[in-house]
Amino acid sequence: MAWRFALMIDPAASDDPRTDYASTFSTVDPTAPALSVGELSTQRGDGIFESVGVIDGHAQEVQAHLDRLVHSAEICDLPVPQVEQWRQAVALAAEHCGPGESVIKLILSRGVEHGPAPTAWVTAAPAADFSKPRAAGVRVVTLDRGYASDVPARAPWLLLGAKTLSYAVNMAAIREAKRRGADDAIFVSSDGVVLEAPTASIILRFGDSFVTPAPTGGILQGTTQLSAFAWLEEQGLHTEYRDVHTPELSRADAAWLVSSVRLAAPISEIDGTPLPVDSEFTGRLNAYLLSPRD
Ligand code: PLP
Repeated sequence: MAWRFALMIDPAASDDPRTDYASTFSTVDPTAPALSVGELSTQRGDGIFESVGVIDGHAQEVQAHLDRLVHSAEICDLPVPQVEQWRQAVALAAEHCGPGESVIKLILSRGVEHGPAPTAWVTAAPAADFSKPRAAGVRVVTLDRGYASDVPARAPWLLLGAKTLSYAVNMAAIREAKRRGADDAIFVSSDGVVLEAPTASIILRFGDSFVTPAPTGGILQGTTQLSAFAWLEEQGLHTEYRDVHTPELSRADAAWLVSSVRLAAPISEIDGTPLPVDSEFTGRLNAYLLSPRD
């Protein structure tokens, strides 16, 4: 990985009145060790993160990512991030990204075991090349996430709805999808409600209506989905948050996996059933997602 930048952050309290947080940042060599062996992020995956897409040095949808970072911290009982401090850290990282597509990661860990404070850092690196899935689409299989759709309310300790560092299960789901001959997965609840992909939100088109599963606790609120819906609405198209049931997937007129760095990848097949790929529309959606957005 050709890292571009790494910054350790001394986390400030959410009500810190400073306007300039430069003194809380220390730039580190991204290829050198920077974390203690007692880090709970590495020992237990105990922390939260965000991946922000960057286009030609412009960090996309920063406020939506910071809002979700705060939301994840609240769910995980982590100290609430000082939003202005993180905004300045993202701006500094973006200055090091250069032309083309990059990714800035924000990480807030519970810190070192028995340590005094959380550990926080930001990295910048070139983005992977997603031009093929954006153009050719992705084949997906549905995978049971193993719990019913009422579990987020019944078991908040599962931290559903928080973007935690515990992504081993999400990565295992992608490996299982590949074993089944697909490229990616769509999680469904055990009672047949469509949730999200392991690293993306889902948008479906039924006629003139664009639908996404409601982020009511069990899934992440996707920043790319939010942005895509704003774009669709600007064009007078109808958008809707609602429960989507598994059998509806193969009846969609089109569908996409959307996320901050991949952007919109049309779904070309669900559980072996081909789905139409609207290349012209997907191209326009990705042109919008690749344009500077705040
Ligand atoms: N859902 C999950 C589980 C994700 O990991 C992601 C992104 O990584 C998303 C949805 C999409 O979120 P965003 O559009 O903010 O990248």
